[in-house]
Amino acid sequence: MPESKRALIIKIGAIGDAIMALPLARELKRKGFTVTWVAGTEITPVLGLVPEIDEIIRVNQHSLFGNIFSAAFEIVRTWFKLLRTWPDEIFVLHGDYRYSFLVPIWFPRSRLSFVRAKTRRHHTFEYARLAFLESEDNELKFDPYSLNSTQPRLPRTVCLFPGGARNALRDDPLRRWPVDSYVELTKHLIEAGFKVTISGGPSDHWIEPSFTSLKNKVEWAVGQMKLPETITFLQTQSLAVTHDTGPIHLASMAECPTVSIFGPTLAATVAPLRFQHLAVELDPKLPCQPCYDGKNYGICTNNLCLKELSPHTIFKKITAYFQTT
Ligand code: SF4
Repeated sequence: MPESKRALIIKIGAIGDAIMALPLARELKRKGFTVTWVAGTEITPVLGLVPEIDEIIRVNQHSLFGNIFSAAFEIVRTWFKLLRTWPDEIFVLHGDYRYSFLVPIWFPRSRLSFVRAKTRRHHTFEYARLAFLESEDNELKFDPYSLNSTQPRLPRTVCLFPGGARNALRDDPLRRWPVDSYVELTKHLIEAGFKVTISGGPSDHWIEPSFTSLKNKVEWAVGQMKLPETITFLQTQSLAVTHDTGPIHLASMAECPTVSIFGPTLAATVAPLRFQHLAVELDPKLPCQPCYDGKNYGICTNNLCLKELSPHTIFKKITAYFQTT
């Protein structure tokens, strides 16, 4: 039997970006590649659920973006971990050229890179099409990546993620729908008879004081589930609600419908593909939207693009969705 070709993917984080890139691993596997993925510690548990990835090489992103010595150490350490690998294709799924340093200097020079949404196409498409560069772009269609589940969805269950928009390297508060709006939305949902769970990661405990009056009326799961457990939980939920942050992509992997709330970023490029019709943005948009260029935001002190989206607007979107299912 001939040896399979090898593909090396460099995608360190963040959670949502890595999940949107999973169709590339799936397409490479379909084409007969053995897939090695160089990943940050944060996303490794999620990638471990994906059978199309044969090997995960973990890097410490804190070291990588620390001082010059820790970065050099982490890069050389990664090179050593890749000693047994000789890739036929290399994919550096970051716009920032510095991630290319993780590719050992003795590897082939040709590599394919992710160029951030100049065209405003969905990132899933931008990643996955790299496996088909010889094809006409417009003929390609990619399903988002999801995990099989046999779990039944519990009726009228809604999971909210009011925190997030923060990873190991940066905090993006301008992406967050105000926590007070989540509190108001929770009240509407409880009154309408929904079973509400408030979830989030270990760095989201700051939202707790805002929900004090509702703690005995909701399931409180902030900081209580690791990422794979969150996916399993979302496989049982009727709906997830959050802004542009990792959990909308965890929900997408779980095939859990999402109402996703967008302000400074563009829903068309990142909202879960399967549930894009449920993405909510101001209509009409503000002249400054979207202000995120892939790295930085516009100078902003009031975040009106999200503050102006009322809890009632989101609640109406949710009830309309449940009336159609
Ligand atoms: S500048 Fe405009 S788009 Fe950007 S965060 Fe502020 S209100 Fe939103």
